[in-house]
Amino acid sequence: MNFDLNEEQKVWKKIVHEFAEKELRPKAREVDEKEEFNWEAFRKAGPVGLAGMSIPEDFGGSNVDMVSNAIAFEELGWGCGSTALAFTAHNGLGTAPIALYGSDELKKKWLPLVASGKNKLGALALTEPGAGSDIQGGVITRAEKSGNEWIINGAKMWNTNASIAEYIITLVRTDPKGGSKSLSMILVPTDSKGLTIHPAEKKMGLRGSPTHAVSYDNVRVPLENLIGPEGKGLQQTLSTLDAGRISIGAISIGLARAAMEAAVQYARDRKAFNQSLADFQAIQFKLANMEMEIELARTYIYKAAWLKDEGRPYSKEAAIAKLYATEMAERVIYDAIQIHGGYGYSREYNVERMYRDARLMTIGEGTSEIQRLVISRHVLAG
Ligand SMILES: Cc1cc2nc3c(=O)[nH]c(=O)nc-3n(C[C@H](O)[C@H](O)[C@H](O)COP(=O)(O)OP(=O)(O)OC[C@H]3O[C@@H](n4cnc5c(N)ncnc54)[C@H](O)[C@@H]3O)c2cc1C
Repeated sequence: MNFDLNEEQKVWKKIVHEFAEKELRPKAREVDEKEEFNWEAFRKAGPVGLAGMSIPEDFGGSNVDMVSNAIAFEELGWGCGSTALAFTAHNGLGTAPIALYGSDELKKKWLPLVASGKNKLGALALTEPGAGSDIQGGVITRAEKSGNEWIINGAKMWNTNASIAEYIITLVRTDPKGGSKSLSMILVPTDSKGLTIHPAEKKMGLRGSPTHAVSYDNVRVPLENLIGPEGKGLQQTLSTLDAGRISIGAISIGLARAAMEAAVQYARDRKAFNQSLADFQAIQFKLANMEMEIELARTYIYKAAWLKDEGRPYSKEAAIAKLYATEMAERVIYDAIQIHGGYGYSREYNVERMYRDARLMTIGEGTSEIQRLVISRHVLAG
């Protein structure tokens, strides 16, 4: 067994850390306050390989392994939760299904465009106003064939990147009879007639990552925009989410690490009862727990990512990794605020933003309850 990153992964970690330090961190507060996406960072992400992590090199991507993907999202999350979320919705959700299941024509047309960072991003719309966790039974957005086109009608909810995307991969019902083979993924360019991207949702956190309701009113796209075989949408979705969960867990570790670093600094600087906060054992124990939890989460995220890289089953491990890392971030950032006392509750201190950003992570890409369902199904099947 070897717990070391390989040389390439070590170099990659350094590159992404420097990128996050220079391009994300200094703007993290501003993008949150102004509710604006950090375009400048995305423009610079292309050449570094951060806009094409799931895209093969033939189509302009960097096609990094899953451990490197986890490394990158920890660093990006450390720099700015909002920008990290937009990047993961692009790399994982918005491009991986095309790279894995799309036709050569779709790959050639769309992947180089979005991997360059010069254009807009990718997005994936699964969730609907009436269905999030229950994708299989709940999706009512439908696509019907008419000549050489699909006609799409319905509505999606909580779509990350919709307003800053070239296209939205849309999960639709192609067989009205229902069942596990009744869903399909279709690529819908965002300039399609009949597609409405509604104003950005007013969110608690991650405010530099735009999230939208989207509606489809007789949207017509060519039959060739189907991603993968008709009826495979559910399976494609589940496997996209397995990988996405590792990224969300990694972002959570980055947020927790950033909050802990802030807490350590604050504990050293702040005096109470004639000594530094860091001299109180109660504070030291909090810091010890934070460090322990971050280390444990990272080790398990790497394990899940490694299993994927080995081509082995990793669905249960991705669920455990996401569940632990996201709930860990809640606890760690809660304590980071506690160490800051009243100042931790102020927008002047970054831990307040990190706490709001981390709150999404136990909800998006499968709630904690859904992760527990996935894990318990594996346990009971064993
Ligand atoms: C900021 C943000 C960004 C997002 N980005 C995207 C995106 O890009 N694309 C996309 O498709 N979606 C996106 N989502 C949607 C997100 O994935 C869903 O919100 C999430 O999957 C939960 O679905 P829901 O909100 O419909 O809640 P529901 O499914 O209605 O669940 C409500 C509650 O019931 C619980 N619950 C549901 N079923 C069960 C069960 N069987 N057992 C126990 N408890 C259960 C849930 O865990 C939750 O606590 C985003 C959401 C947010 C907030």
